Amino acid sequence: MKVLKFGGTSVANAKNIGLVKNIVKNNKNKTAVVVSAFGGVTDLLLNAAKQASLHKKEYKKTFLEIEERHISTIKELIPVANQSKVLSKVKSELNILETLLEGAFFIGEITPKLSDKIVSYGELLSSYIISEYFIAEGLNANYKDSRDLLKTNTNYGKAAIYSFNETNMLIKDFFSKNKSKITVLGGFIASSIKGDSTTLGRGGSDYTAAIIAAAIDAENLEIWTDVSGMFTANPKLVKQAKAIEDISYQEAMELSHFGAKVLYPPTIQPVLSKGITITIKNTFDPDSKGTTITKNLNKNGKTVRGISHIDNISLISLEGSGMVGIPGISKRFFEVLSIAQISIVLITQASSEHSICVAINADDVLVAEEAINNEFEYEISLKKIKPVLVESNLAIIALVGDHMKNHQGLSGKMFSTLGKNNVNIRVIAQGSSERNISAVIDKTDVKKALNSLHEKFFEENTKQLNLFIMGVGNVGSKLLHQIKQQKKYLKENLKLNVRVIGISNSRTMFFDEDGISLKNWETLLSSGEKANKEAFFDKVNSLNYRNSIFVDNTASDVVSNTYADYLSNSISVVTCNKIACSSQYTNYSKLKYLAQKYNAPFLFETNVGAGLPIIDTLKHLIASGDKILKIQAVLSGSLNFVFNNFNNQTTFHDVVKQAQEEGYTEPDPKIDLSGIDVARKILILARESGYKLDIDEIKNKPFLPLESLNTTNNDDFFASLIKHEASFQDMYKAAAEKDSKLKYVAQFEDGKASVGLQHIPKGHDFYNLEGSDNIVLFFTERYPNQPMIIKGAGAGADVTASGIFADIVRIGNF
Ligand code: ADP
Ligand code: ASP
Ligand code: MG
Repeated sequence: MKVLKFGGTSVANAKNIGLVKNIVKNNKNKTAVVVSAFGGVTDLLLNAAKQASLHKKEYKKTFLEIEERHISTIKELIPVANQSKVLSKVKSELNILETLLEGAFFIGEITPKLSDKIVSYGELLSSYIISEYFIAEGLNANYKDSRDLLKTNTNYGKAAIYSFNETNMLIKDFFSKNKSKITVLGGFIASSIKGDSTTLGRGGSDYTAAIIAAAIDAENLEIWTDVSGMFTANPKLVKQAKAIEDISYQEAMELSHFGAKVLYPPTIQPVLSKGITITIKNTFDPDSKGTTITKNLNKNGKTVRGISHIDNISLISLEGSGMVGIPGISKRFFEVLSIAQISIVLITQASSEHSICVAINADDVLVAEEAINNEFEYEISLKKIKPVLVESNLAIIALVGDHMKNHQGLSGKMFSTLGKNNVNIRVIAQGSSERNISAVIDKTDVKKALNSLHEKFFEENTKQLNLFIMGVGNVGSKLLHQIKQQKKYLKENLKLNVRVIGISNSRTMFFDEDGISLKNWETLLSSGEKANKEAFFDKVNSLNYRNSIFVDNTASDVVSNTYADYLSNSISVVTCNKIACSSQYTNYSKLKYLAQKYNAPFLFETNVGAGLPIIDTLKHLIASGDKILKIQAVLSGSLNFVFNNFNNQTTFHDVVKQAQEEGYTEPDPKIDLSGIDVARKILILARESGYKLDIDEIKNKPFLPLESLNTTNNDDFFASLIKHEASFQDMYKAAAEKDSKLKYVAQFEDGKASVGLQHIPKGHDFYNLEGSDNIVLFFTERYPNQPMIIKGAGAGADVTASGIFADIVRIGNF
């Protein structure tokens, strides 16, 4: 015989029950089919009971919803000819349910016993309706009320089998006499010796199926659910999770105990002693292999088999100097919790006698607190012990695997991964089974923790990068294009999975938690909500994704003022915006400090020389022990363009105009021509070389006439260039007479920086600098005479985007 169990989603509606029928029908063996309540009905029943007990009339609405679910399912499933019998039976059961709820409403109270009675209607009705449907479909099926077979104690809500001998005998006896090929039973429900309805705990239908399987020595127990097996982590939270093909009873038990809801923890116990295989299968994808749970210890060599978590955890601690020396404190502590029927999920390994700390379900916290404070009232009054300390909004995450105990370094890997992702660990415990390592963390960090650990232990070191991009103009749109082109390469070759989660321009912003499609991001963005920098940050922060990177492609000071918020929340920042790094030294150094403190890289390679690896090279030189003696550079693509094209055949005005029109200058060309842009760049290089400098310390001798510098709009500016053409021609002539070219040069030496126009003689490294190229010479202790030279295009949207992209990839390899 086989036992097949179908969970709530599998029987949530007529369509799904049709799938269940096909699975059952294809089975050759004699079968016990255990079903849950229709998906969501148990919650509705509990809610109705609660509303009624609080005198809330809404319970009637909830009841009507429950009624409607069942009646409409019958009407869809069962042919009209057979409907009336089923409808009248179900209606009379629903009448009783309504009366029970009415009772609770009038009394304004609900006892655990009445609650179980009410809740049992979920499985009672579902199993009856499904059995009638099977019969109507011509299957050789019958119905059995499982309360006749499973006998429990009266621990309502989570009753335990009172006597396995008796329960097993009742089950065996029933099936040996039963002639039907298929028997449909409700899971989760049982009855006490006195015959009152009881339930086995939320998710307990799995357990019913396992008890029946063990009693009849079934050849297999199949758990049919809404996912294709037991996964390496909850697939609803970790997209990359994979079904585990084979797993041992012990590992499965540990995973389910630590929250893998796909299997109710007590389920394994009954089948384990009989060696019955459990298969977990997907009702909605019956051909997928699923998971097989057997007694075989895993042999595939993987140490960590799965990661699970329990939400809704609180820590309670008892501490006080007076605890040392008082005998039996721990005994009393645990005893009092046990009497209050509170189960302890995790005990921390306290090495001192000063404190005891345990994790429990948050729902039990008030009872636990009161019970312990009462127990230790005397010691607390003497101030030997402090009143119980409660910490809430926590969760437990656990790594599970049979062979973990033999492997050193797993916990190191686990905790360093969590640490790198800024997940704060409250408490650590290594299970005595040595089959798990668990940690208590903040509830809000669960998704991030699961995903980072999953990445570390299961994804062959693939790393997901989550990008939030502000500014999608010239540079930003090129960046998105490059990411789209390179995505596959990065995944295959660098094991980086780059996803764009949020984008914004000055008008709108758009997020897709699964990654924005880069094919039609423009349309998506224009349909997005109104742009708002604070809301953008709040969203990035609340998503709390691992490896989040904020990318600033704007030139806005308001945006650069938000970097500190990102970095303080462990969100990396990549930017081509120079404002932050050339602002007050205190601000620059604060951002550097935050980046280090919160483990969030702050990269701005494109601040100098667009895509050229200037800052990165500088950092490598310094990191490897070299010392910067002097930097000489042409750092303005626009000024280089201007002076490469200006001569005695052209006018300064026309060349600047051309540079502006071709996009080589800032919209306000004065920013380039005044030298301020170059001053900011050399300032950043000086700071990155380890010098404390501010912009007003940089010597900047402008070549523009004062009148041009003082203009306040582009028209006046260009007019002033025409007016002063003669002085520009003089500049040219002075250089040409010495066989030299004009170059706007930035220099840093002995802690001092300057920018200005220079005559560059033939033979100098700068002499033949083409078009809008940049060049940097690093004179260092290791390169004292022949400098290290970096040269190439220093402006343009494409190269700037590729520089930003390179920073993103750097973070990926961080
Ligand atoms: P059923 O109603 O069929 O009993 P449950 O909701 O009780 O289904 O259990 C299935 C759910 O368990 C999945 O939808 C998934 O969200 C959750 N789950 C949690 N951890 C895991 C895991 N490690 N593997 C598979 N599912 C898991
Ligand atoms: N219907 C019950 C619940 O929702 C039992 C189960 O589905 O396993 O908890
Ligand atoms: Mg379940």
